[in-house]
Amino acid sequence: MATRINDEDIALVRERARIDEIVGAYVQLRNAGGGSLKGLCPFHDEKTPSFQVTPSRGFYYCFGCGEGGDVITFLQKIDNLTFAEAVQALADKTGVQLRISDDGRPAAQPGLRQRILAANQAACEFYQGQITTPEAVIFRQFVDGRGFGRQAAEHFSMGYAPKDGRALHNHLRSGGFGDDELVKAGLIRESGWDYFQGRVIWPIKDSAQSVLGFGARRVFDDDRMPAKYINTPETAVYKKSHVLYGLDLARQPIGKKSQAVVVEGYTDVMACHLSGIDTAVASCGTAFGADHARMLQRLMGNSDAFSGEIVFTFDGDAAGQAAALKVFNLDQTFVAQTYVAVEPNGLDPCDLRLSSGEPAVRELVGRRVPLYRFVMRNVVGQYDLDRVDGRLQAVRAAAPLVSSVRDSSLVRGYLHDLAQLVGMDVEEVRQVVSQQTRRSMPAAQEPPKQRVQRSADVDEAPALDGLSLPWPDPRDRSIVVERDTVKLMLQYPMLFDTAWNGVSPDDFTHPAYRAVFEVILATPLQTHGWTEQLQAATLDDVARQLQVALLVEGVHHDPDEAYASAYTAKLQLLTTLRKLADLKSRLQRINPVEHASSHKQAFTELIALETRRRTLEQISTGAD
Ligand code: ZN
Repeated sequence: MATRINDEDIALVRERARIDEIVGAYVQLRNAGGGSLKGLCPFHDEKTPSFQVTPSRGFYYCFGCGEGGDVITFLQKIDNLTFAEAVQALADKTGVQLRISDDGRPAAQPGLRQRILAANQAACEFYQGQITTPEAVIFRQFVDGRGFGRQAAEHFSMGYAPKDGRALHNHLRSGGFGDDELVKAGLIRESGWDYFQGRVIWPIKDSAQSVLGFGARRVFDDDRMPAKYINTPETAVYKKSHVLYGLDLARQPIGKKSQAVVVEGYTDVMACHLSGIDTAVASCGTAFGADHARMLQRLMGNSDAFSGEIVFTFDGDAAGQAAALKVFNLDQTFVAQTYVAVEPNGLDPCDLRLSSGEPAVRELVGRRVPLYRFVMRNVVGQYDLDRVDGRLQAVRAAAPLVSSVRDSSLVRGYLHDLAQLVGMDVEEVRQVVSQQTRRSMPAAQEPPKQRVQRSADVDEAPALDGLSLPWPDPRDRSIVVERDTVKLMLQYPMLFDTAWNGVSPDDFTHPAYRAVFEVILATPLQTHGWTEQLQAATLDDVARQLQVALLVEGVHHDPDEAYASAYTAKLQLLTTLRKLADLKSRLQRINPVEHASSHKQAFTELIALETRRRTLEQISTGAD
């Protein structure tokens, strides 16, 4: 359910956050007289300033591009934040304790978030202060050894956690922090020992510069923690699936360039940024996942018209291939925009910069290839392509990659590439992929048997000929109720009861609508990510495209529950009328004297159907 921030708190944030200060962090502002400030607009390219801020009113406006709003809008726009995130960021800056309710219930422990952020900030400064101590010589060796130097270390707020084991705890305790909140911040352990001891530290910040947690690398051989890298445990502010290292620096370039480069480690992020790849980020202590993908998509613009590119640098080795495959299984709009940059010698960006200099890092990113091609090449590479059966096996192994794609124009490209990779004819490859896909389709998901031949003028011809369902004509009056019912289910699932108002697959006469409904029926409704799940569960290319079309197509009424139940009644009425017609023709063929019992049975059935027809007719009037 939606998070709600108390209105008074929002007002207080607006009041306390000084717009000239917030905007001033992004735009050089000069006095323009009349209590206004002027600067170069951050939202469009210009040479003379037409971007104006009026602190007394709390507004900004650009006379060049028309962008304008208050301090919250500004932060939302410039940092690509949601309203709640922008308010949270400003609240953190201005010390406002937000009262947030989920489901109308007050959030647990108000103020804890702010205390953790304050403790993290203090810890960050403490760690940074340690890098010049005699003990931290090992830190300086680490930094120098990777070609960074003092200035880079400071730019990335690197720090050093002393071996002592109590140093941070004592420091923060004298700074007024309680043990309880330090444990909750993941800075000290229950036992009172510092969480990080004798390690090189990187602060992990959100896009609003707040320190959410830390990444720490082992530098001593006698380190008691076995892992080379450890991170802050999950806290109220640190969720590893939602943090990206380097986002504080990369956020704006990512938005401007519509590109993000995902690398594997902290030093790789540093090496990239120093080499001019200022869009580099890394996931922290966890694999890059769906939440990370969504974060980057949002930074690059509207997720519904996503048009950026995401470049992953992977090792060419098995682990890198596995990581690539994992990304490939993420949302498909994401995958289509995803590229892979592999260094031929297996060097990561940090090592590459060290051995070959900064231009080499830029070239690495420049040499990116589409992710699917990388994955396909890896799969195909496992077979002996000099042999006929080896080529066939390779195509069969790569078939799931091709058939998992819903965009038919992409499928054509994939088939072409696959044919080229294995050295076979495209048509031949298409046939093998088609056969293989049908074979591997689970029985339950198999499309209905009755297949209608598609007419030649179908606009969205499915890519895998002979495999897909027929594309239904949206203007076909005889099946318009079927179309409108699935459309309503997809767009307003909450208007139906848990059994979808008793609708059954048999209510659909067109196999494509039936296929879409069968997936709806088999996918438990969730408030979040349901449509993604539907997409993932739909194996048929046409059904998947149809699903998308129905998700975006307009719904005429402003529907409510009564309308939904009237509509499903209308659909069920059509089924009942069909059954009635069948039954009546059957009754005509039964001799009531010779087959008295079956005649009687059919007649009972007829009465039941007529009753159902009348009931459905009544309910369905609301759908006209
Ligand atoms: Zn502008």
